[in-house]
Amino acid sequence: MAQNELAQMIEEAQRAVVFTGAGISTESGIPDFRSPGGVWEKYQPIMFDDFLASEDMRRESWRRKIGAEKTIGAATPNRGHRVVASLVKSGKVSHVITQNIDGLHQASGIPDKRIIELHGNATYAKCLDCGRRYELGPIVEAFKADESLPICDHCEGIIKTATISFGQSMPEAEMARAEEATLACDLFIAMGSSLVVYPAAGFPLIAKDNGARLVILNREPTSLDSMADLVLNSEIGETLGEASGIE
Ligand SMILES: [Zn+2]
Repeated sequence: MAQNELAQMIEEAQRAVVFTGAGISTESGIPDFRSPGGVWEKYQPIMFDDFLASEDMRRESWRRKIGAEKTIGAATPNRGHRVVASLVKSGKVSHVITQNIDGLHQASGIPDKRIIELHGNATYAKCLDCGRRYELGPIVEAFKADESLPICDHCEGIIKTATISFGQSMPEAEMARAEEATLACDLFIAMGSSLVVYPAAGFPLIAKDNGARLVILNREPTSLDSMADLVLNSEIGETLGEASGIE
């Protein structure tokens, strides 16, 4: 059984890294934005430069954010998140590198210092100039009242959800932390990602080139399957749950 093989590889690892994509969160009811019928087929993404240049674009962005809040805001961690959290807690997994912006790894109890978010986080906002953090509640209330745009009280900068938008550069510190964690691991488990979006999809290759074992767990085949030591085309929660005995 492939689950037994996965359990064995986790058992043998000293220091594993878990890499997660949208597939782990679809099991919590969050749609995969890039999948057929996903949000990007309905809307053109708002490019970062357009967001900066135009108040209309910023209003459109906040309208979409409020629309998306019904799914992201209501989601809770699923069995896959719980297994990953347990592997972090036991010390088996050093870091979770994620392409997700839903904050569900934090919600499952993993400390921030163990999570590396390559695309930011949609559950709060930040000033683009001074980096100050803002919670969404008051911003959304004010916007709903008269579509007023949030401005930083500290520096009057533009406030945006703490995500990395299309056209915005990848966060350097997170990319460096992800590379460091990947180079230090002896087992790299990629789950729920089609592994096509670079530079994020380069991490499994870095791990493999550095001598780590590579496991790919995804419902659909990925372009890196031929490189992997173990490929599981199955549901994440059920597969991890059966490999670990965690509900
Ligand atoms: Zn500011």
